[in-house]
Amino acid sequence: MAIKIEFNNPFSAEGNWYKGNLHTHTDNSDGELSPREVISLYHRRGYKILSLTDHYKLTYGEELKKEGICLIPGEEIDGGQSAAGTSFHIVALNITKEITFANKEEITAQEIINRIKAENGEALIAHPYWSGLTLHDILPLEGYLGIEVFNSTCLNSIGKGESSVHWDNLLAKGKRISGFATDDTHGYSEQQYHPMDMGKGWIMVKAISLNRETIMDSIKKGLFYASCGPGIKNLSIEKEIIKVETSPVSSITFIASASQGGRISTSSTLTQAEYEIRGGEKYIRIECADNRGRKAWTSPLFLTNQSGEYF
Ligand SMILES: [Zn+2]
Ligand SMILES: [Zn+2]
Repeated sequence: MAIKIEFNNPFSAEGNWYKGNLHTHTDNSDGELSPREVISLYHRRGYKILSLTDHYKLTYGEELKKEGICLIPGEEIDGGQSAAGTSFHIVALNITKEITFANKEEITAQEIINRIKAENGEALIAHPYWSGLTLHDILPLEGYLGIEVFNSTCLNSIGKGESSVHWDNLLAKGKRISGFATDDTHGYSEQQYHPMDMGKGWIMVKAISLNRETIMDSIKKGLFYASCGPGIKNLSIEKEIIKVETSPVSSITFIASASQGGRISTSSTLTQAEYEIRGGEKYIRIECADNRGRKAWTSPLFLTNQSGEYF
């Protein structure tokens, strides 16, 4: 089988692992705590990467810098309109200045992405499930890095935290996009029947050092995995066999286009699984879940033939 596997493998890339949250609010918009308090909280919990993404506000500056945590300038921008009449929320990362629009009712999602790119930034489509977006809404968009496959606040508030079907539909249509897990933190305290948003969805980035440029470079290449709990320890590909090692989980799923792929699950625990590529998968991404239902997601591997078409 002449399959080409296109995948930037973070597990064989040089560097260290850094934990990060790319979607966070402070009291500069509708978050509960000040930027300094938010940065300190994440720093204390071992995060090394944080983006404060206030609504239409760039919360970033020399005065917020803190040793040991890399701040990525960010902003959350809403606008455009889905077929259902809801708006897109788009997270802007690593922008050079605050983005504003004279009339946000009249802009399109693609215009938001274009503006983010014009400010040297990168765009993530935030919480598609919560926003009521469908494949039809997202498919025409170009130039964004990926979507939030998991958003903690959207799970805690209305049970629409996971957008994996959106991701799969886009991957099956040939979109080479990443899946991110984020907190989208607004509240920072545990309440009855409403767990804290913070610390529930993150990415583990493999990068050669902890600074904005190298971290962004790794994120753009897909050198990370997303998680709500489980750790992914290794992913290797030998011939046509993909092997994955994880922290103790109860299922490991190899997700591919349509009815392709496979799942290994147990009522006890698993720490590894393998999958032999059969042909026809188009893409494969690995998702594992622990016995509390918390998941972790690898970046997708793309399978192509010699002419670069999906296999
Ligand atoms: Zn949002
Ligand atoms: Zn948000």
